[in-house]
Amino acid sequence: MSEPLLEVQDLKKWFPIRRGIFSRTVGNVRAVDGVSFAVGAGETFGLVGESGCGKSTTGRTLLRLIEPTGGKITFEGRDVRKLSRTQMRAMRRQMQIVFQDPYGSLNPRYTVRQAIEEPLLIHGLASSSAERERRVAELMDTVGLSPSRMNRYPHEFSGGQRQRIGIARALAVSPKLIVADEPVSALDVSVQSQVLNLMDDLQKQLNLTYIFIAHDLSVVKHISDRIGVMYLGKMVELAEADDLYAEPLHPYTQALLSAVPVPDPDAKRDRIILQGDLPSPANPPQGCYFHPRCKDAMDVCRVKAPEWREVKPGHHVACHLYDEERGGSTWQTS
Ligand code: SF4
Repeated sequence: MSEPLLEVQDLKKWFPIRRGIFSRTVGNVRAVDGVSFAVGAGETFGLVGESGCGKSTTGRTLLRLIEPTGGKITFEGRDVRKLSRTQMRAMRRQMQIVFQDPYGSLNPRYTVRQAIEEPLLIHGLASSSAERERRVAELMDTVGLSPSRMNRYPHEFSGGQRQRIGIARALAVSPKLIVADEPVSALDVSVQSQVLNLMDDLQKQLNLTYIFIAHDLSVVKHISDRIGVMYLGKMVELAEADDLYAEPLHPYTQALLSAVPVPDPDAKRDRIILQGDLPSPANPPQGCYFHPRCKDAMDVCRVKAPEWREVKPGHHVACHLYDEERGGSTWQTS
């Protein structure tokens, strides 16, 4: 990994559960519960897990669109949680987000021009209307849309085109980091690859850093340099993308990966069907959170949470299968 642009240490976001007429806090939904990772400049970091695992909350918390409950976020050496509102607004020029639903994230009453120029106005980046129009045209061209359509409304565009508008809006302030929160999940498969290719090209052209959030490992496969897998608010595995696909260590990653289609029929993986639903983050299981659904669960898993450890260079996992007293890892003994 290159020099870290963003470092996240022990990030937590708990939502209080309130009951009664006095709204007393009776518990917490631990949406993000002690997540740590770093993202290098120019890197794409994939964040993967089932719906409800806390990956989108992690993304929003990094930009403080949701205030974190605990932990440290460092961007270019600055402690993001210590920034005032004004400083944070300035920081958001460097950190932008692209949302999953390109229609819901665009104001239907705004023309494309208004949608893309809004961040320019907020950050005072173009003083005259002519300058803003020139910049909007440039951004539309960059994302493969004809500037001649800048006065049209979002409903006049297809889903893929609307996502391109969302990307142009994020690019308007020339950010260094883009958190892409399931940017292609709402799109047809044929359109998904076009948007992924666009994002790949933009990264090279503009030296962007991405945090790419997805529920499907097949989507992040080609775009990510490293991938973190989340389960019930915690990171359970983190590795270089190639390493993770070639040798997933955590049983949860193995199950997710077994669902990814492989083009070579000889390389077919046995499908691992996950039993049961994701438990509630308000009442997670004791020990390893994954144990009720894990095909490899042992007695220790029901009582003790596994430690986060680096089992080979750059490959981290939280699973008792790799405890030192069990010989370090099955990877060493296989
Ligand atoms: Fe499965 Fe135990 Fe590893 Fe958890 S710690 S993933 S239950 S083997």
